[in-house]
Amino acid sequence: MSTQRPLADAYGRVATDLRVSLTDRCNLRCSYCMPAEGLDWLPHAEVLTDEEVVRLITIGVRRLGIREVRFTGGEPLIRRGLVDIVRRTRELGEDLELSVTTNGLGLERMATALAQAGLDRVNISLDTLDPARFKTITRRDRIDDVLRGAKAAHEAGLTPVKVNAVLLRGVNDDEAGDLLAWAVAHEYELRFIEQMPLDAQHDWHRDRMVTAEEIFEWLGRDFTLTPAREPRGSAPAELFLVDGGPATVGVIASVTRPFCGDCDRVRLTADGQVRNCLFAREESDLRGALRAGASDDELADRWLAAMATKLPGHGINDPSFLQPDRPMSAIGG
Ligand code: SAM
Ligand code: SF4
Repeated sequence: MSTQRPLADAYGRVATDLRVSLTDRCNLRCSYCMPAEGLDWLPHAEVLTDEEVVRLITIGVRRLGIREVRFTGGEPLIRRGLVDIVRRTRELGEDLELSVTTNGLGLERMATALAQAGLDRVNISLDTLDPARFKTITRRDRIDDVLRGAKAAHEAGLTPVKVNAVLLRGVNDDEAGDLLAWAVAHEYELRFIEQMPLDAQHDWHRDRMVTAEEIFEWLGRDFTLTPAREPRGSAPAELFLVDGGPATVGVIASVTRPFCGDCDRVRLTADGQVRNCLFAREESDLRGALRAGASDDELADRWLAAMATKLPGHGINDPSFLQPDRPMSAIGG
């Protein structure tokens, strides 16, 4: 086994959590993520092959101290090789934490295969329980598929099933309590995510976004929330026990309560670029080097160099903030 070199940055943070985007394509069109017509998808030839993805993950795990791998996108369930990629990643170690972030479409069909391949759990995105609102937000009439997908994941043991919800002003901002009651009843762990300036349309407005503060206030009307863990550590969600537990709810307040100082994440895009932050304006090309014949050592060196330039914070709250060129769906959320 080669020597481990941690993915450290200049501020003392070490990345151990790798988010791997398997495609920038998606079968939904969430309004806060991409326009109705979709985006200019990456040309097929630019997307890493299954072989290339697994090679880079192996370098991350064997040489660079990665302990957690989260597959995302775009929609990772539409990546044909997903189950095989999960299986080969699991072979790198029983103690690796493996999860998928998905919109849940098709999960009913795939949950058992994913669990058998060694996946630990899933995060499913669902912003509303109302079919008409779901259609408005995602521009597709598919809420039943998502609900069936969540159930199948739970039954397949991909637990705890986490549910990510983004509240949008005037659209679903009256649903915080209903979503939590539903999640608690189904033994899903709900996480609210503050809307971030990562949409392809550049439509995000600070004065329109729903804040963590508001979410706490709304939830407080129906539930008693008490902190579930102190300190929060590198976990992005502030976690609370619901009515004394054991159910919990999390709020990921990337905008109003940034947690950059404790960040332990690094991202690999579907086209093989390392990003040291969701909001980074620079990427480091591993695909080019890999296809030019770089050795594992050389690829690890490039990856380490990419981490060294990680900025102390995302800067969303600075007047000079510039949204990254690529939207969330292309970076891997
Ligand atoms: N398609 C999968 C899904 O929806 O779960 C994975 C990719 S998606 C980009 C990952 C997560 O990012 C989802 O939970 C989604 O709600 C969230 N997301 C997308 N755009 C966002 C934005 N502008 N602000 C906050 N969260 C966003
Ligand atoms: Fe697709 Fe996920 Fe973006 Fe929705 S949030 S459009 S499901 S990538």
